[in-house]
Amino acid sequence: MSYLQNVLEQLKEKNAEQPEFIQAATEVLTSLEPVIAQHPEYEKAALLERLVEPERTIVFRVPWVDDNGKVHVNRGFRVQFNSAIGPYKGGLRFAPNVYLGIIKFLGFEQIFKNSLTGLPIGGGKGGADFDPTGKSDGEIMRFCQSFMTELYHHIGAETDVPAGDLGVGAREISYMFGQYKRLKNVYEGVLTGKGLPYGGLSGRTEATGYGVVFFAREMLKHFGETIEGKTVVVSGFGNVSWGTVQKLNHLGAKVLTISGPDGYIYDPDGVSTKEKEDFMLELRASGKNICAPYAEKFPNAKFFPGEKPWGVKADLYIPCATQNEIGMKEAEVMVKNGCKFICEAANMPTTNDAMAYLMENGVVFGPAKAANAGGVACSCIEMGQNAGHTVFSPEQVYEQLEKIMINIHDNAAAASEKYGLGYNLVAGANIAGFQKVADAMMAQGIV
Ligand code: GLU
Repeated sequence: MSYLQNVLEQLKEKNAEQPEFIQAATEVLTSLEPVIAQHPEYEKAALLERLVEPERTIVFRVPWVDDNGKVHVNRGFRVQFNSAIGPYKGGLRFAPNVYLGIIKFLGFEQIFKNSLTGLPIGGGKGGADFDPTGKSDGEIMRFCQSFMTELYHHIGAETDVPAGDLGVGAREISYMFGQYKRLKNVYEGVLTGKGLPYGGLSGRTEATGYGVVFFAREMLKHFGETIEGKTVVVSGFGNVSWGTVQKLNHLGAKVLTISGPDGYIYDPDGVSTKEKEDFMLELRASGKNICAPYAEKFPNAKFFPGEKPWGVKADLYIPCATQNEIGMKEAEVMVKNGCKFICEAANMPTTNDAMAYLMENGVVFGPAKAANAGGVACSCIEMGQNAGHTVFSPEQVYEQLEKIMINIHDNAAAASEKYGLGYNLVAGANIAGFQKVADAMMAQGIV
């Protein structure tokens, strides 16, 4: 058995209860085969064994009191996965299905994503099995304060810098920031995604979505095509979808769908006006986690309850909702419908077998860890802004974001080419992201 297969086998055995983590690690490690073959020194240094084991995992109690005085207890997590190239960096996810396996898959992906940005940030992720749906503002605040009352021991501007993810937006970040500052008596950029008056970065909110579209634009350009005039199927309706829809509209594409846990919306006129973009924000702010009201507000649109949008024909597909939203069943329909391009915006939205099937059938695939890295890249710019006690203009941010996304695309394409894999952005992103972290780990000794 090869070194790589051996590590994978051990990993599956040790983490049998964490299928999402196994999925993410398998996807990355298998595409490293040609790199590992050229570097026998990695085995001696147990590099891969160290890479798949988080440096530190913190699991903690989060007690809080609801509006009726009832006490609840949730479980909080922070996985500090890898600090070889910078302080741990990655979001916090509040969702009822959060457990260690989800946080570890996200943290593992974050190592390579953050490396791909070219910026000095390590990989981490956290969150809680807390369901924000239907909670009052006061309940959200008390939960965030309790969560931070434990987390603050373990983070800091030079140690670990959390941000948002599903269920955690500017409101939650702000409550956590307020509590951190109170407990530590330090005003520092310990969280990113803050509000503009207290250290937040102009453009951070839309950065992930804008970055995804810049990445998709580079993919299309490789085949001599443009975003302009393309039809696009988008899933989700939250922050990432919103930024994605906005930038697609800027570039002249037509967005046919958005979706939520309750079903999907098909809008034959396109989710194309400012009013429609703003309504996505309203849907999110309602705290109900449903997209159906879009079809009431815009009667030309149709709501398909309980369904996903992947059966709708389009030139480009951008999954923005959550992990594993495209499985084999969806992939088969997409191939039958002549799908040519997929650019992932959510983290790991495609299962490994679906991804392989889509690529075997000629679909050009932009992997999440490359395509959605614009969010965390701008988070790192926010860290720089805070550390330098300064403020950047939106133009400065957008310009850097665009350059970073073009670089990520080009580096992934070049890494794939270097190992004789043609234009395979999945393998290329894994290889390019890995190489920098591997070099740093080898240089820093057995730690
Ligand atoms: N949660 C986002 C991601 O998956 C952003 C993380 C950050 O800004 O630290 O990359």
